[in-house]
Amino acid sequence: MTIKTRTSGYADPSLHAQGLYIGGKWEKGSGIAVVDPSSGDSLADVPDASVEDALRAVDAAEAAASGWRATAPRQRSEILRRWFQLMSEHAEELATLISLENGKALSDACGEVAYAAEFFRWYAEEATRLPGEYRHTPSGSHQILVDHEPIGISLLITPWNFPAAMATRKIGPALAAGCTVILKPASETPLTAYAMARLGEEAGVPPGVVNVLTTTSPGPVTSAVLADPRVRKLSFTGSTGVGRLLLAEAAKTVVSCSMELGGNAPFLVFDDADLEAALDGAMVAKMRNAGEACTAANRFYVQAGIHDAFVAGLTERMAALKIGAGYDPETQCGPMITPKAVEKINRLVGDAIALGARATTGGAPLPGSGYFYPPTVLENVPVDAAIASEEIFGPVAPIYRFETEGEAIRLANNTDYGLAAYVYSQDLGRAMRVGSRIDSGMLGINRGLMSDPAAPFGGVKQSGIGREGGVTGIQEFVEAKYYAVEF
Ligand code: NAD
Repeated sequence: MTIKTRTSGYADPSLHAQGLYIGGKWEKGSGIAVVDPSSGDSLADVPDASVEDALRAVDAAEAAASGWRATAPRQRSEILRRWFQLMSEHAEELATLISLENGKALSDACGEVAYAAEFFRWYAEEATRLPGEYRHTPSGSHQILVDHEPIGISLLITPWNFPAAMATRKIGPALAAGCTVILKPASETPLTAYAMARLGEEAGVPPGVVNVLTTTSPGPVTSAVLADPRVRKLSFTGSTGVGRLLLAEAAKTVVSCSMELGGNAPFLVFDDADLEAALDGAMVAKMRNAGEACTAANRFYVQAGIHDAFVAGLTERMAALKIGAGYDPETQCGPMITPKAVEKINRLVGDAIALGARATTGGAPLPGSGYFYPPTVLENVPVDAAIASEEIFGPVAPIYRFETEGEAIRLANNTDYGLAAYVYSQDLGRAMRVGSRIDSGMLGINRGLMSDPAAPFGGVKQSGIGREGGVTGIQEFVEAKYYAVEF
């Protein structure tokens, strides 16, 4: 399959999608058009898996399960390490592929590939360190032994916004734990997933250990897979709405669920913050992936004394960003993923402006081909505008003014979500105090970027269940087994 690009010569043909990947075999097909969001042009056509295809993937994962589970941790570790190495060697091609199908700026895509590959390196290391337990019963009469067994066949469902990293964040710990997997990437960004599976093959992942399916029928395919009693784990990253549906579906067969869902991150700037540092952090927290990130700062709460300087500084920086196709190396803000995403952003901005907000830069979609929305700053936003409660998922920074610490905490927590939050203050005591009262799974203190493969990533409230990454991530793919032994 050749990918049509306006920048021929970028992508390595050997990494191009080859079809469904089931039991170590590539199965050609068509039915899903992959589109370049910077132009609306078609990039490729990939297979549309049916329920039957998905159940064949479960058969393949089952056939490989006992062999993979029995491999020595060191062997699993070395395969993951080779996969890390191959991703690093092919970083440029993978980043270009991500930019092509997702639209993100090449610099963001390069950052994603490095981050994604690190999950394989991290879990190559963790594979050999799964702890067990040995303890005495309180009465002293017996011993308690606890082993950690692979949970079993795992269905991994990932979104389009980090097509490489969301997959490796799940595949890495699953394989390290000894599980076989079926990956269902988003149909907007299948090419990256297929390219990575190709590298996994080269790294020595045995047939059936990793299977990849793309489909336009995620509901029926997922229901059929979860209904199969051989499948014991669902690890999902995506919107809270779909997460809720999947939790209900998984309840039917009591499948273990890890859920990485939506966010609505508050970004708090106190009067005593270092203004330049806060602006730098705001640009990263808002503009990584052009705002299409679950950790993206969605609400900027800025204290009255620093408010006007912050609005002016952010406006200047946002207005200076270069907009363009992601794969153009000059681009700093790429297109949104679909026309629907642009419509949603436009609706939220329009609603805020109708309620009294003012756009200091941007504020309307860009004309022409491609799905572009310009970097936008909104000031004077009412705290009850829809933009304060919905995930924007775009390059829009709504700014709200606050007076007191208590008010900032109340506003920050006024959401059903609880993934990430950011606090800028040079008073570390205040930052820690405020941070401890914000309901979120992650908190950036004077930092606009928190993702790290060695740290537990995840949310509270309706942002999810469980953690990925760090030493915790592998626990999502094991079950504790208690041995009560008389001896
Ligand atoms: P989405 O929920 O629409 O889709 C995510 C995945 O679920 C895709 O693979 C999609 O095909 C699949 N899907 C859709 N409907 C399904 C169904 N009925 N049954 C089974 N699978 C189904 O989300 P999206 O638009 O691709 O991604 C954006 C969302 O993901 C945002 O809400 C963002 O915050 C969230 N996200 C969360 C994290 C995190 O770690 N918490 C990371 C990245 C993205």
